[in-house]
Amino acid sequence: MADPYTTLGVEQTATTDDIKRAYRKLAHQYHPDKKTGDEEKFKEVNAAYQVLSDDEKRSQYDQFGSTFEDAGQGGGAGGFNGFNVNFEDLGINDVFEQFFGGGRGRARQSRGEDIGIDLSISFRESAEGVSREVTTRLPQACSRCHGNAAEPGTPITECATCSGSGQVSTTRQTMLGTFAQTTVCPECKGEGKKAEQACTQCRGEGREVTDQTLDVEVPAGIADGQAIRLSGKGSAAQRGGITGDLFIKIHVDPDETLRRDGDDVRSIESISFVDASLGTTKSVTTLAGEHELEIPSGTQPGAEFRLAGKGFPRLQGSGTGDQLVTVEVSIPQKLSKQQREALEAFRQAKPKKSLF
Ligand SMILES: [Zn+2]
Ligand SMILES: [Zn+2]
Repeated sequence: MADPYTTLGVEQTATTDDIKRAYRKLAHQYHPDKKTGDEEKFKEVNAAYQVLSDDEKRSQYDQFGSTFEDAGQGGGAGGFNGFNVNFEDLGINDVFEQFFGGGRGRARQSRGEDIGIDLSISFRESAEGVSREVTTRLPQACSRCHGNAAEPGTPITECATCSGSGQVSTTRQTMLGTFAQTTVCPECKGEGKKAEQACTQCRGEGREVTDQTLDVEVPAGIADGQAIRLSGKGSAAQRGGITGDLFIKIHVDPDETLRRDGDDVRSIESISFVDASLGTTKSVTTLAGEHELEIPSGTQPGAEFRLAGKGFPRLQGSGTGDQLVTVEVSIPQKLSKQQREALEAFRQAKPKKSLF
């Protein structure tokens, strides 16, 4: 990953507050929903913040130049996780407030909630990618009024209380003088308009809870804990605002024989000490099926064999990882009479003479 200090433009000595401030500024600037948005930069900024806002990860980075998470998980901070947005720290509501609520006299548009759901997939599905149907039960735009909250055929008119600005000004007398204060219009809740007759189906909410079935494409190479963002598939806002996003957090079930290590796959094969000495062929389970692995004579316990290209596809960049097979050598605990005799003979046999 890129150096998180450089990404956030802070010194190594920066305080938690400095880091938070730098992060919020850049996240607001690059937020993909904004005109100045840049999704790649937004992801980078988020990845950097995830390291520097966590004391443990930050000290790991300071010491080792990476975090343990990076080392252990290929997707890691540089990968797919622009989605691990910390909404609380980002003050996401501020972003939208700023963007949609905007300057004075402009009516505000509400935004529905972002919703997170969990989806479990198998180890193999995480390698190959999979499409899944998920069903959500969330507020969606009302089917009768299409979200505008007015009974069909009846008008929506400018709010008389605020003349459509969504804000009202009040003055307050205090000992120090008169203060003018602008607040959200209580009549239209800041929207600047009102349905004369509320929709009978949603009672003027503009939304109703409905089931929604979605096809989710889970990309090949996704790692446990990463999330997929479906823009505009979260909760609908009241009265025709902006629908929130749906975040689908992926849980990958562990496999019996294979383990993920970054973009690589690891497995252990046990062979007998005789096979290790004489060499053998072993059928090894890989993501792509069985693979015949040649184990040469004289293989030592703990030896590692690399099956190139048998790992996970990389989410960013191209190519795939490898499979690393570690060989375990087993020693029989019981010997038959015949085996014992053969081994006694082996003990007596002369070793091969060294040429040097
Ligand atoms: Zn309605
Ligand atoms: Zn109003």
